[in-house]
Amino acid sequence: MEHIAKLIRDVPDFPKPGILFKDFTPLLANPQAMAEVYDAMAAPMKALGVQAVLGIESRGFILGTPIADRLGVPFAPVRKPGKLPAKTVSVSYTLEYGEDTLELHEDAIQPGTRVAIVDDLLATGGTLEAACRLAESIGAEVVTCSLLIELSFLKGRERLKGRTVQSLIQY
Ligand code: AMP
Repeated sequence: MEHIAKLIRDVPDFPKPGILFKDFTPLLANPQAMAEVYDAMAAPMKALGVQAVLGIESRGFILGTPIADRLGVPFAPVRKPGKLPAKTVSVSYTLEYGEDTLELHEDAIQPGTRVAIVDDLLATGGTLEAACRLAESIGAEVVTCSLLIELSFLKGRERLKGRTVQSLIQY
């Protein structure tokens, strides 16, 4: 995965001072490397019998859709408030400063479906933990959470204790 990691660049002080942003647009510009990423993220999902992939807006869409395609299973978007047109369920979660909300169509999956939740990066785990609760609120069985990047020093896994978390690249 070292050649993949080399295509992720650090952008200091984005979107605000003190944040070291992990930018994977150079990786997106490399189709061979992206194919490896999709395959590597999809493989454990296949082994776990994943029946649907949920991607978190917006970089989780980029990764989640081709992964769902590789598995031959449905994809559903987890979105910021007010973006999904049909009837939704929502969940709110706390950020460092304030609160955020995620939404999912209430008919996105059938109850009992084995789902994987996909995002680009695990930081504190708040977003992913909220997405898991959201999926479970419509009866999903979350069998794995899959990330391209994990910032291990932020201990997001602790917030997701008891859940399967898989990441390709750790810092
Ligand atoms: P968290 O809820 O703290 O785990 O934050 C995860 C979400 O914030 C993901 O959707 C990431 O895309 C984004 N994020 C947080 N920190 C970074 C970072 N250093 N670089 C890029 N994206 C980040």
